[in-house]
Amino acid sequence: MTVSWSTIDCDVHVNVPSMKALLPHLDQYWRDSVVDRGMNSLDSISYPPNAPLTARPDWRGRAGEPPNTLDMLRSHALDRWNIDIAICNCLYGVQLLYSEDMAAAFAKAVNDWVAAEWLDRDARLRASIVVPMQNPDYAVAEIERCAKDRRFVQVLVLAMGEAPLGRRQYWPVYAAAERHGLPLGLHAGSSYRHPVTSLGWPSWYVEDYCAQSQGFQSQVASLVCEGVFVKFPKLRVVLLESGVTWLPAFLWRLSKFWRGVRLEVPWVDRSPLEIVREHVRLTIQPFDGPDDPSAVARLIDHMQSDDMLLFSSDFPHWQFDGDDIMPVGIPERLHGRIRRDNALATYGRLTETLV
Ligand code: ZN
Repeated sequence: MTVSWSTIDCDVHVNVPSMKALLPHLDQYWRDSVVDRGMNSLDSISYPPNAPLTARPDWRGRAGEPPNTLDMLRSHALDRWNIDIAICNCLYGVQLLYSEDMAAAFAKAVNDWVAAEWLDRDARLRASIVVPMQNPDYAVAEIERCAKDRRFVQVLVLAMGEAPLGRRQYWPVYAAAERHGLPLGLHAGSSYRHPVTSLGWPSWYVEDYCAQSQGFQSQVASLVCEGVFVKFPKLRVVLLESGVTWLPAFLWRLSKFWRGVRLEVPWVDRSPLEIVREHVRLTIQPFDGPDDPSAVARLIDHMQSDDMLLFSSDFPHWQFDGDDIMPVGIPERLHGRIRRDNALATYGRLTETLV
C-alpha cells in the first residue's frame, strides 16, 4: 500500500540486540565491568520479548524474535507506508539502573549506538536522546553532547520515574531541552521505583500496560501545576504511546478543580486545558478508542484542538493489524495535520532537512 501524502512517524523502536553491540561505545572501565560482572543485557522489562504486545506477529523474525534490523524496519514500516522521517525511540534498561554513573555510561553508549547503527545508515531516521534522569546534571550533559548532532530531535524519558517530572530538580533538563529546541518525549514505561498503580503492584501485564495512562495523567498534572510551562514557555512535551482517549476527561477534571483551588498555584494563570493544548502532543498509536467511527469523531471533538495528535506506527509493537495506520473515524480534514504538519510544528529540527 502507498499513501499519497508525506508522513512523519514519531514513534518507532530500535532494540539493542545484545550487550556486545554496546561495548564499542563504552569506555574501558565500563567495558571491563560488563565482562567482569557478566552483564548480559539491560533489556527493558516493560516489553518482554515474547509478550504479544511487544511485536506484531507478522513482523517477528524466523525464530519469533521482535524485529531488530534496519531491513525489517524498512520493509515493515518505512517503505510500506512511504514514511519520510521516523523518530527512533530506543527503550533499553538505562532508566532502571540505580547507579547514576552506570546510567550515564549506558545512556551515552545507547545514543552513540543509535547514531552509528541506525541514523548513519538511513537518511530518513532521527532519534531521541536517552538521558540518565537519575542525575539531572548527567542528563543535561548528555543533552549537550548529543544536541550537536541535529539528527537528535527530542529528549526521551519514561512516563514513570523516580519523582514527578514537574519537580524543580528536573528543571535544568528542561532548560537544556528548550535551549536546543528539543521537545521532551515521555514514553510509556517505568523505572519501577514505585508500583505502576497507586494501589500497589498489579498481578498481570495487561494491568501494568493499562495503568500507564495513570502515570501520564499524573505527569501532565505535575508539569502544569509546578509551573514548568510558565518557566519554559517554548518547551513542548510529547506523550509517546500514551493512548489518547483518557485526555479529554482528565483535562475536564484537572481544569474544574484548578478553578476551585487555583489560589494555591497562582502561577498557573490560565486553565490547564489551554496550557495542555498549547504545550502537549500525543502520538496516535496505540489508539485506544472504540471501533465506532462516530464515537471516534466525538472523541476528536472533545480534544478541542487540531494540533495535538502526531502520527506514529509504534513499530514493532502490536497496536494494529494490516495497513490501517490511521484509526477509522479520524476526520479526513485532520489526516494531513496528523501525518505531517503537527510533527513539523512540534519538532523544530525536522524542518531543517525535510522539504
Ligand atoms: Zn512506542
